[in-house]
Amino acid sequence: MRLTRFALVAGALSVFLNAAAASRQVERIALRTIAERQGMTIREDGEKSATLTGPNCSIACFLDKSSYVVNGVCVYGQGAAERSLGGLTIPLNDWKYVLEPLISGRKVPAVRCICIDAGHGGRDSGAHSAAFNLSEKSLNLDVAQRLYKLLRDKGFKVLMTRDGDRFVPLEKRSSIANCGKADLFVSIHFNASENPTAHGIETYIVPQQGTTATARLSSPLRAQDNIFCQNNKFDDCNLLLAHSIEGKLIRLKGVRDRGVRRGRFYVLENVHCPAVLVECGFITNQTDGALIAMADHRQAIASAICDGIVNYTP
Ligand SMILES: [Zn+2]
Repeated sequence: MRLTRFALVAGALSVFLNAAAASRQVERIALRTIAERQGMTIREDGEKSATLTGPNCSIACFLDKSSYVVNGVCVYGQGAAERSLGGLTIPLNDWKYVLEPLISGRKVPAVRCICIDAGHGGRDSGAHSAAFNLSEKSLNLDVAQRLYKLLRDKGFKVLMTRDGDRFVPLEKRSSIANCGKADLFVSIHFNASENPTAHGIETYIVPQQGTTATARLSSPLRAQDNIFCQNNKFDDCNLLLAHSIEGKLIRLKGVRDRGVRRGRFYVLENVHCPAVLVECGFITNQTDGALIAMADHRQAIASAICDGIVNYTP
């Protein structure tokens, strides 16, 4: 979609306003401005991408794409990178809410107690794959139990929202984490799609106030997008935790990085600590399904999530 542009100078910042077709105005910032302010170098790779590099970080941006690669991990923003005034610009909110928190090296609170949420259960089976005879609720529990042991061995106190094949309402799941004073909440799921080629791993966080879920990026903001939910207090920590876990998971053999995304999941919105929901692969895809059917791979998933948590902790 083409956007009408007009420039606005705000102090030293080159910020642009776009009248989006979705009738939202999007402030933009030039990559060159970010590079100057952060002391980063910028390398333009032809017309279509650019990479910012600092002492301990790198950010790759791509023309017309709403995702970035931050320190090797795909992370979704709110709008596409565009070319204006001879360089790439990105939405200012992507810098403020996504990129800056990830590269600033900010401190996170101590983690003692972790709540693991095995998605679905009982009468709620979640996704199903006839080809591999895989049921999501069983896979979620299997990975959750493996993760439980790994985290206990690391010395964390660990809570489970379910430890068997039983139905647990969503509000009960958040309240188990909240009543148990969990410092982190990790929900485990597996994905399914009508498109059999869809594959890879995604890690979700709650959208920041005033932003949309990744699946609705091209749609106008809805009223609920402007509500500050309980979990929005932890926006930066959510992002750092998701980035850390996704970064470990995508090192597993044969998996694809589908990125850190935002989704308005009830179970995340109502948790009073940093929270992520991990979609550990598509049970409807030939490659992912064959991997997920193997216990060794599920153990590797649990181990990568554990490593991601440990890497996140101060
Ligand atoms: Zn699920």
